[in-house]
Amino acid sequence: MNMIFKRKLLIPKEIKEMYPISEEGALAKKKNDGEIRAVITGESRKLLLVIGPCSADREDAVVEYISRLRGLQERVADKIVIVPRIYTNKPRTTGAGYKGMLHQPNPQAQSDMLKGLISIRKLHMRALNETGFSCADEMLYPENHRFLDDLLSYVAVGARSVEDQQHRLTASGLDIPVGMKNPTGGDLSVMMNALRAAQGSHTFIYRNWEVESQGNPLAHAILRGYVDSHGITHPNYHYEDLSRLCELYAGSGLQNPAVIVDTNHCNSGKQYGEQVRIAKEVLHSTRHSTDIHALVKGMMIESYLEDGCQKPDGGVYGKSITDPCLGWEKTERLVLDLAELWV
Ligand code: PEP
Ligand code: MN
Repeated sequence: MNMIFKRKLLIPKEIKEMYPISEEGALAKKKNDGEIRAVITGESRKLLLVIGPCSADREDAVVEYISRLRGLQERVADKIVIVPRIYTNKPRTTGAGYKGMLHQPNPQAQSDMLKGLISIRKLHMRALNETGFSCADEMLYPENHRFLDDLLSYVAVGARSVEDQQHRLTASGLDIPVGMKNPTGGDLSVMMNALRAAQGSHTFIYRNWEVESQGNPLAHAILRGYVDSHGITHPNYHYEDLSRLCELYAGSGLQNPAVIVDTNHCNSGKQYGEQVRIAKEVLHSTRHSTDIHALVKGMMIESYLEDGCQKPDGGVYGKSITDPCLGWEKTERLVLDLAELWV
């Protein structure tokens, strides 16, 4: 091997002992888990919004953003369940660039994985303690889920990971909803196969243990658009795409058919402002088909304090350093509109 084993890190149990979840925090997560589960199973007809910055680049701005979401959640509580995105590790298309707070707790400084592990736990804990939200993160590294499993209420398996066996098997052992994205190339059968794997039970190796997962009936689809073999971006949130997904689910034998539509990424072509129109179009589609109405559980929206994005050293507080996001004013307007429109 040509890697240097620099230092041994703490294990999840040790970091959890240093930063334990509070009793109130555990209760809040339990309540949130129940509300989110009810949406995925269809017991609740509220709209699920997994919403927040593309990457959680700094604790202060993320906590301020999520505190604002708390106020907004109270105003739309009869229609909408908000799960904030705190994405602490970022997949990179070429491997280059900011890999998230886990790698670089300070985006301007070198990687520090121990500081990173502590920073991501502290951030998720602060969000829970100060706002009552147990949040969403991407499960980019399945082995790391255990550093946060007592704090998270939702996990996404990203477009670049969804075909990977370790991600699928780990998803099958979680007791919270796991959204599995269509792959970057758009092949929906890859996503459906991921769901089948995640809903089944498996024996495998996880963190040096032989484990047996119970299967996750809350594993569901996320449509995020795709790039074709010519490098051209295509959306997959239109009525016809949702209809096709209804058909795929109907013949699949999968439990809890459900889709979350990611309004950014290849669905918006990263034209972040288009998220407003896309979210509303999805709601419009639900009004024209009872099958689509039953399948669509909500949206994933990239949103932060400021509109757009900047370079990682841009220095603007609350402005994304990865994908461009919808700023706060437009986000607030959109969430209020969605609450009004959702029936
Ligand atoms: C994201 O949600 O920010 C993300 C990286 O998504 P995807 O896996 O769809 O590219
Ligand atoms: Mn993103």
